[in-house]
Amino acid sequence: MNQLHDAPHVSAQLPLDHAEEPISQSVAPPVATFTQRANTIGRPAKLWKPKHVYFTAAAWEEEHGRRIAERLDQLGVNYERLSKNRLPRLKGNTVRETYQKSKNTLAIVNAPPSAMRLTPIPPSADWQFHLAKGCPAHCQYCYLAGSLPGAPITRVYGNLEQILENNVNYIQPGEGTTSFEASCYTDPLGLEHLTGSLSRTIEWFGTQPQATLRWVTKYDDVTPLLGLTHNGHTRSRISLNAEWVTRRLEGGTADLTARIEALRRLCGAGYKVGIVLAPIMPFPGWQESYVEVLDRTQEAVGEGCDVTFELITHRFTPGSKQVLLDWYPNTKLDLSEEGRRKKFNKFGGHKFVYQKEQLGELKEWMYREIGARFGEETILYFT
Ligand code: SF4
Repeated sequence: MNQLHDAPHVSAQLPLDHAEEPISQSVAPPVATFTQRANTIGRPAKLWKPKHVYFTAAAWEEEHGRRIAERLDQLGVNYERLSKNRLPRLKGNTVRETYQKSKNTLAIVNAPPSAMRLTPIPPSADWQFHLAKGCPAHCQYCYLAGSLPGAPITRVYGNLEQILENNVNYIQPGEGTTSFEASCYTDPLGLEHLTGSLSRTIEWFGTQPQATLRWVTKYDDVTPLLGLTHNGHTRSRISLNAEWVTRRLEGGTADLTARIEALRRLCGAGYKVGIVLAPIMPFPGWQESYVEVLDRTQEAVGEGCDVTFELITHRFTPGSKQVLLDWYPNTKLDLSEEGRRKKFNKFGGHKFVYQKEQLGELKEWMYREIGARFGEETILYFT
């Protein structure tokens, strides 16, 4: 999420009767129930069932907001329609209580006008745009802890059609393509059963000859995406890591086996795919563990699949460290500043990254091992 997922991952007038609002089959495949899952390989992520769901007044009036309402009805998820656009205060008596309440809350809101001014997101893509902000998983290193202020409520955007159309303003004229990243502030697949936003977005990019979509996930339920008309314009990436990391630090996500299976299924559906190996950590025995991930990935994607790698080492800021320690006081994550190097940004802020020698060793190892299996040209960047 850099701002990548792993460094971490925009009104109609009167509301229509949503029971009568038809859902386009092309954007809203049948909604699975919370227990019905096509993929049972490995330990799939549990589909998120938020305890509290709010619709702001403005989001309720949006076409996509109504699609979401229809899905929630089908899933039997209760929601509250707010008369205004302000969400209720979710503050608990302790930081931990606020965290738990917020992580159980989904809000359907409209992206503000400022969200229509896109910003670049090197090295991942030309531009970042957002389908949502927040995520129901509990990764103990999550970059969102330092980058999204306030209580970690998951906000999904009702004005999706406006958000997609706004992307047109950023497509470079000429012969090349312009790339758009959708996972800087969320894991879109973790919300897909509730929103359908990712499916709609993939199909929208499928109609854009000069634009490509990139998104990434730690979830595994790719079933709704397999039959979409993506026209090769979407690169679907799965975030993988060594078992040592996924087991200890990635609560609420799919296990490694289920994620690799999702990757295999995406390849089978003709998607370009990617592996975001992040956050890479040099824990004792890291070489053997990462070899296992690479071998299993190679076996899953086979020949003929267009695959890329993005390699992101673990880093944290003083701000994200504090938030993460408040949220996960018993974490096994190494957040000590000794043995780290400060890396400054152009605004004078800094993050803690591994020492140069350590980074050099990790980089050399990754290029050699990935190169031997997939070819070095598949590596987009190491950071
Ligand atoms: S899956 Fe969610 S909690 Fe985990 S790193 Fe990604 S955005 Fe953060």
